[in-house]
Amino acid sequence: MMNCKEASQLMSQELDRKLSWREAITLKLHVSLCDGCANARKQVNFIHQACKHAFELNEEKK
Ligand SMILES: [Zn+2]
Repeated sequence: MMNCKEASQLMSQELDRKLSWREAITLKLHVSLCDGCANARKQVNFIHQACKHAFELNEEKK
């Protein structure tokens, strides 16, 4: 079982690279059992989506 620190590291790595299936599964398991990380993950994904969206809008203007 990974701890919250490892989970948060994987959450940020997941934005930059594809996680291995083992990493993805252990992260998923931790997030499903840990409310703190589930919330953190939602926020990370939301921020990432928002950034991506802003970037794409910027690209369209060129
Ligand atoms: Zn946690």
